[in-house]
Amino acid sequence: MPFQILIVGGGIAGLTAAIALRAPGRQITILEQSRLLSEVGAAISLQPNASRILEESWCMGAALKVAGGIVDEGFRIYNADGQLVNTIPLLSKTEYGGDRIMYHRQDLHKALKEAATTEDRSGLPTNIRTAARVISCDCEAGTVFLESGEQLYADLIVGADGIHSVIRGNVLDGHVKTVPTGLSAYRFMVPTSVLESHAAKFCEHIKPREPFTSMMVAHSCRLIMGPARECNTYSVVGLIPDERMNEDPDKKQSWTSVGDLSQMLETFKDFPEWVKECFKLVEKDLGLWQLRDIDPLTAWTRGRAILIGDAAHAMLPTQGQGASQTVEDAEALGAFLSDVEDTPSKETIKQRLQNVFECRYDRASLIQRYSREAARPGTEKGSKEVKMKPDEFMDYNCMYPGAREWHRRHQQEIASF
Ligand SMILES: Cc1cc2nc3c(=O)[nH]c(=O)nc-3n(C[C@H](O)[C@H](O)[C@H](O)COP(=O)(O)OP(=O)(O)OC[C@H]3O[C@@H](n4cnc5c(N)ncnc54)[C@H](O)[C@@H]3O)c2cc1C
Repeated sequence: MPFQILIVGGGIAGLTAAIALRAPGRQITILEQSRLLSEVGAAISLQPNASRILEESWCMGAALKVAGGIVDEGFRIYNADGQLVNTIPLLSKTEYGGDRIMYHRQDLHKALKEAATTEDRSGLPTNIRTAARVISCDCEAGTVFLESGEQLYADLIVGADGIHSVIRGNVLDGHVKTVPTGLSAYRFMVPTSVLESHAAKFCEHIKPREPFTSMMVAHSCRLIMGPARECNTYSVVGLIPDERMNEDPDKKQSWTSVGDLSQMLETFKDFPEWVKECFKLVEKDLGLWQLRDIDPLTAWTRGRAILIGDAAHAMLPTQGQGASQTVEDAEALGAFLSDVEDTPSKETIKQRLQNVFECRYDRASLIQRYSREAARPGTEKGSKEVKMKPDEFMDYNCMYPGAREWHRRHQQEIASF
């Protein structure tokens, strides 16, 4: 019998777990509730700690080239008057072992799906079952229950079902509340050619074909902007406190909720006219979501099941580490289960999942905390001087040598303490 693995959720966590776990003698199935037809149109960054894993550990360099990612060269910081006040170059690949790369979510998702399902990698291709909504699982028995009434068995269950995870309820024996962080975010993308023909002043200031993340920072609101798709698309995210927003935050809790342009213009009314030129180019697809995270959980594993990605440690997007921490989880699963073959006993699975948890928990929890800290107001009240430092936690976040080495160093520290 092959080693049976069921992954609940086909987002970045589910797909990267499938890539990391692929090996001969294993059958991997992803159960995804949606039809996987409409990944949201938004930019997403992979940080050096994650892009190194994709390129070196999973040999995805060629596939990622096709995905059209932009290697980010640094941060340009503007104050609320629109003046460029600081440029922070990013450390190079030599220092971090990888680049910070901006993708369009649809392109990254497609490349990951291809790597999980292709015949050209080791092990059987992953079977992705769409329109397969999971309602619960029995972690000890390894049974997964679908909304359709079907039951499936696995040696290993990976709960990669996002911030509102149902598997989490079974691992922890109870519901975990998501925490409103007091922040919401508008997001939209504009073709760069449209910006160039209709927002000349914006392009004079921001230069949207240059590979930089530009941030315009006021006390409580900020814009985070950058190119994707080989600089042919430009992404804008507007972070705002719920109380400053002119929309109902409780109605905007999904990544796919729609925002209102006139309300967005009202919220950002004090920002320079030239930056608002680009807001006016949004024809459709203005997204708005209330940012929630979760507090660190007491456990990620139980019996044959483990939580990864947003299900385990949903965090604010202020450091762009959500997807990257997910990639680290997947790499840890691959590393600690690499020599598990045939039909593993429950004891073996439990032990290996415990190793993953021990390796990942402190680091992911700390980065959750840093992401909350990075959401602090960007200036003192009433001041235009920008205090926010987008590279504040970069060294800790990005210098990651992979799960086994990280675990070894951690054990050494404990031994010497
Ligand atoms: C539009 C958008 C923009 C983002 N931008 C950034 C960013 O710039 N920087 C950053 O750090 N993070 C960002 N994030 C968050 C980041 O993508 C996540 O932190 C990371 O990808 C981990 O995602 P995940 O796979 O754990 O969860 P998700 O992406 O939420 O995927 C979960 C998957 O599970 C499926 N699912 C849920 N419940 C069930 C069920 N019961 N049965 C079957 N399937 C189920 C869902 O349909 C979904 O496909 C963004 C997320 C979105 C959606």
